[in-house]
Amino acid sequence: MADMKSWQIGDVKVTRVLEQEAPLPPEGLIANIDADRLVEHESWLKPHFMNDEGQIVLSIHALVVESRGKTIVVDTCMGNDRPLPMDIEPLQTNFLSELETVVQREQVDYVLCTHLHFDHVGWNTMKVGGEFVPTFPNAKYLFGREEYEYWSGDAEDVNIDLQYGVTPVVEAGLHELVPSDHSITDEVSLEPTPGHTPGHVSVRIESAGKRAVITGDLVHHPVQLAEPTWGSHPDAQPERAAETRRDFVARYGDTDVLVIGTHFAGPTAGRIVKVGDSCRIECD
Ligand SMILES: [Zn+2]
Repeated sequence: MADMKSWQIGDVKVTRVLEQEAPLPPEGLIANIDADRLVEHESWLKPHFMNDEGQIVLSIHALVVESRGKTIVVDTCMGNDRPLPMDIEPLQTNFLSELETVVQREQVDYVLCTHLHFDHVGWNTMKVGGEFVPTFPNAKYLFGREEYEYWSGDAEDVNIDLQYGVTPVVEAGLHELVPSDHSITDEVSLEPTPGHTPGHVSVRIESAGKRAVITGDLVHHPVQLAEPTWGSHPDAQPERAAETRRDFVARYGDTDVLVIGTHFAGPTAGRIVKVGDSCRIECD
């Protein structure tokens, strides 16, 4: 598995299972971008987070977290065989067999979705005989209560994201609505990071004196930590999202906390090093 990466945080192991990595023009994702400032960041963004053509590189992956004998899958990518928004062709990847080199799907204890966008709930389900059924039949699927209520509140908002990745799970009775600071084990807990969506959460890991955090989509690309006002076009609450990014850098900058980016390409994880009023990500 050339693309399989893993990190040990104390007694907790995190393994990245890749669905897709792709370059795109910076302005295709990032709002309020300043081209001159972006050039200033190139030295640390290249080669992993930006390619030679100046395109930003994004990854879509799941993170398998093993803690206290429990296996937790954090975010489940886009999934196979289903209609996708934004003119994306339905996928047919070998993600599930890659995942099963880490854990058999029947052995997964928890699925945690940082939020309910289509690229985080996809493999919650799989198509079997024309129907979408839960991929992880013995798991509890943890959805943030605030997030779930936001999406379910308005009937018109029931979209592709929910239809394929969430509704079949709820119908099977496998979901559990949790507060935004829920503890999954005594090593793995959620922290509220609202703005991208109102109930968005990140995942904090603390074990044997080591610490890490899984971002979710509070940030899609590392440059947004250096420039917190550079939002992502899909941010539901842009100002709140910027505040969350600022708080995140204040909380984790110049610390030993390993930041594992949910859409960060290449090494995917690094530490936030403050530089003047900005920062950069330093990877091992
Ligand atoms: Zn996303």
